Amino acid sequence: MSKVFFIAIKDIDLLPELVLKSGIKEVVHKNSFTAIKMHFGEPGNIGYIRPHWVKPIVELVKEQQAVPFLTDASTIYKGKRSDAVNHSLVAAEHGFSIDACGAPVIIADGLRGNSYQNVTVKGKHFSRVKIAQDIYYADSLVCLSHFKGHELSGFGGALKNLGMGCGSKAGKYEMHNSVRPEIDPQKCTACKNCLKWCPAKAISLVQGKARIDRKKCNGCGDCILSCSFQAVQITWNETYTVVQEKIAEYAAGVLANKNNKCLYVNFLNHITAYCDCYPSQAKDKPLIADIGIMASLDPVSIDQASVDLVNQAAGRDLFREVWPAINWRDQLRQAEQLELGTREYSIIRL
Ligand code: SF4
Ligand code: SF4
Repeated sequence: MSKVFFIAIKDIDLLPELVLKSGIKEVVHKNSFTAIKMHFGEPGNIGYIRPHWVKPIVELVKEQQAVPFLTDASTIYKGKRSDAVNHSLVAAEHGFSIDACGAPVIIADGLRGNSYQNVTVKGKHFSRVKIAQDIYYADSLVCLSHFKGHELSGFGGALKNLGMGCGSKAGKYEMHNSVRPEIDPQKCTACKNCLKWCPAKAISLVQGKARIDRKKCNGCGDCILSCSFQAVQITWNETYTVVQEKIAEYAAGVLANKNNKCLYVNFLNHITAYCDCYPSQAKDKPLIADIGIMASLDPVSIDQASVDLVNQAAGRDLFREVWPAINWRDQLRQAEQLELGTREYSIIRL
């Protein structure tokens, strides 16, 4: 059983104590380059973790005489975060400056998202994964995750941030490449938004409805995000399972040269149905009231505890209700099988 530490959102001033108690000293050591993995937010989205919450965590890393940097890797969908230059500019626009946070932003997989290290894993889908170079070379890792729903994994928390988030562009493609979306012609309004966003130019309008060319589609899933009419769907339930299993295998690869150690902090605020990559406030509305912040050394426990607290607050399985075709338990099950952590936890409230 793992310990998961918790503070209510009203007690945000206790964030440094939360991080200290959860074991930052076990993870961050003197002179270590410490990657603080996070999501700087897509322009138009307001769900990302705020700079003034990051700063006290940066200070704690510095107190260990370590060298922190804030980081993320490139996206595979066409947005402002798909290369290092524009990604850094988005981070700056959202307030992630050295003055505000006390640490620089370094995009971990290089200018075009093609800098990565192959790491051996013993997975069901992968025997090696492609981890963003600067996260691989960091000595220690702190993973700050905004906990919310997700259109591919039901919810997105520590495991998603670690596995998908630390994968290089090539890694993200191979995690997504079992995703094969379909257009529901009944729901398609021919608005052409998915045509604009598809990076593979795989979508065209045929007889007034969007159609996907399977030979061109790379499985990035961007069309799912870009459609405001829920006309783009993945038809097979096991596809969601495979994506979640692959994410867990990538998470194992990220931890492989970190002695399997990382500190995880989940922010349970502004909990939306969709991930933070969606650049529209129309899909950025919270499902329930803010809950609090959790921290743990166990990525499986912290995600299980986070989803349990959300569901207790909602009085039902909220993410299954929002994404009925997705069994969010798959990512936890696979991560547990890979010995990344346990679904058994105890909550310690400060
Ligand atoms: S974004 Fe949705 S509604 Fe618009 S063309 Fe694409 S599938 Fe159809
Ligand atoms: S059609 Fe394929 S390549 Fe194009 S956005 Fe959708 S998933 Fe990505």
